Amino acid sequence: MRHWKENIRKVAPYVPGEQPKGMDLVKLNTNENPYPPAPGVKQALKEMDYDPFRKYPDPTASDLVSALSQYYQVGEDEVFVGVGSDDVIAMAFLTFFNSELPILFPDVSYSFYKVWADLFQIPYETPVLQEDFSIRKEDYYKANGGIIFPNPNAPTGLFMPLEEIEELIAHNQNSVIIIDEAYIDFGGKSAMELTKKYENLLVVQTFSKSRSLAGIRIGYAIGHPDLIRAMNNVKYSYNSYTMNMPSLILGVEAVKDDKYFKECLDKIIKTREEAKVSLSKLGFIFPDSMTNFIFASHKERRAEDIYKALRENRIFVRYFNLPRLDNYLRITIGTEEEMRQLFAFLEVFL
Ligand code: PMP
Repeated sequence: MRHWKENIRKVAPYVPGEQPKGMDLVKLNTNENPYPPAPGVKQALKEMDYDPFRKYPDPTASDLVSALSQYYQVGEDEVFVGVGSDDVIAMAFLTFFNSELPILFPDVSYSFYKVWADLFQIPYETPVLQEDFSIRKEDYYKANGGIIFPNPNAPTGLFMPLEEIEELIAHNQNSVIIIDEAYIDFGGKSAMELTKKYENLLVVQTFSKSRSLAGIRIGYAIGHPDLIRAMNNVKYSYNSYTMNMPSLILGVEAVKDDKYFKECLDKIIKTREEAKVSLSKLGFIFPDSMTNFIFASHKERRAEDIYKALRENRIFVRYFNLPRLDNYLRITIGTEEEMRQLFAFLEVFL
């Protein structure tokens, strides 16, 4: 008989971005929204009654499902919700990626995909991004057990036009295709409308970035009712009461305030475009981001050195030591003031 230690499952876990403690810092390392959640969220939090917490939450998360179905003009049976898009995507992997054929995702993209594939023992292949970091759709025109990629991609920030996405789906009618739209609200165009046309398309989005609610963990997927039903079956077999009561209440409030949502997005997009100009002036090169971050490399200085110097000055950005891309920083777009502090430091340092 094998010793229990030999039976422990060995996984290389996802390494989350650092969450430094303290107020006296500029946090541009994990792509959070620099603006607070919608005012209605604060109000709901103040008015929240604690007595209902002794009961279990609604397992179907029906209020949130209904709010999202109204917002996106889709049926309630076309919406799946989970504890952040991480949870939603993990449920989708478990539900749809059960083929002997490898699933496909880009070699440079969200690093959790590889972790889940390993954990759930799903074979995978990772087509290499092109020189300009774009995804070559033809690399996905082969038999596969499923496809997933972020659009815009992370950490590159590049957006793949909807026409190309549609061609990719049209070439893949035999497997489920997941488009992870964590950053779609910052200027890209969602593939959600294509879910009406393609039964095998699942679009995943999150409240963590554009809706300023990373801390309360809400993600969702939109797709054909058959896909959503299948995911719910897996979810209820796996973690039946995932969404907690406060998150459900606050999520509904966040969806209600579209005006505030759009105002914050406009500010972030404007700051991002200004940051592109400033970064170019300072000698950085970067793909043209459509997200709330910029993936940048300096022409002369090592990314790791810049990262360390910034860190010593309480400015946190993300440094990735990726195989092909070991000289890049990923800088989240902060408030105007945070970006001013970043550039004030860089101007002196570089
Ligand atoms: N997809 C991508 C591409 C991401 O960058 C992230 C954030 N790390 C997620 C999904 C997960 O976001 P969340 O679980 O907070 O919704």
